[in-house]
Amino acid sequence: MRKGLLFIISGPAGSGKGTVVRELIEKHKELKLSISATTREPRAGEVHGVHYYYISKEEFEDRINKGKMLEYTTYSQNYYGTPEKEVSEAMENGFDVILEIEVDGAMQIKKKLENSVLIMLTPPNSQVLESRLRGRGTEKEDVIKWRLERAKEEIKLLTEYDYSVVNNDNEADKCAETIYSIINAEHQKTKYTKSIIEKFI
Ligand code: 5GP
Repeated sequence: MRKGLLFIISGPAGSGKGTVVRELIEKHKELKLSISATTREPRAGEVHGVHYYYISKEEFEDRINKGKMLEYTTYSQNYYGTPEKEVSEAMENGFDVILEIEVDGAMQIKKKLENSVLIMLTPPNSQVLESRLRGRGTEKEDVIKWRLERAKEEIKLLTEYDYSVVNNDNEADKCAETIYSIINAEHQKTKYTKSIIEKFI
């Protein structure tokens, strides 16, 4: 049985990461999206156990202390983290697992799991990034400025990632397919396909 691999997809606000990941998961049912735990409040329409596991700060800290988090971070004054057990079980059962997480968590996994594959999604340029952040029309100027600066800081970490994929306007499906091709290419690495030799000797 082909062994499952771990793929991390990061992308700053304005990268369109949510849409791309949804597209990827809906189209390729063999991929499993890890459901993170968070202490932030659910947004309208979000469901416990589907979008996140919404837990208290005390519960989250208890899980950290018991070593149940593969990685975790604080973002906008809330904890976010990946439950270790679900990820390792899915991989043992042959599923490729996708983590949609920010850069700090991605760096923790990179140190912990050498076979993890890091993919960064970016907007095409800073003008598009800014217009996407403003396009939502819901945030105040100082919040937009903060998100813009943070997005640029995250993109500076690009070379820590294995792959980068640009998400142009209206091309989420194309972007998802590029990511899918990366997933398939990773499985063809000779470190996973050595057993082919045995068929010839
Ligand atoms: P949001 O509150 O908008 O759902 O997510 C905020 C940020 O937290 C996003 O960049 C998202 O990718 C990141 N995030 C979500 N889950 C996790 C997680 O389990 N670990 C880490 N490190 N980041 C996460």
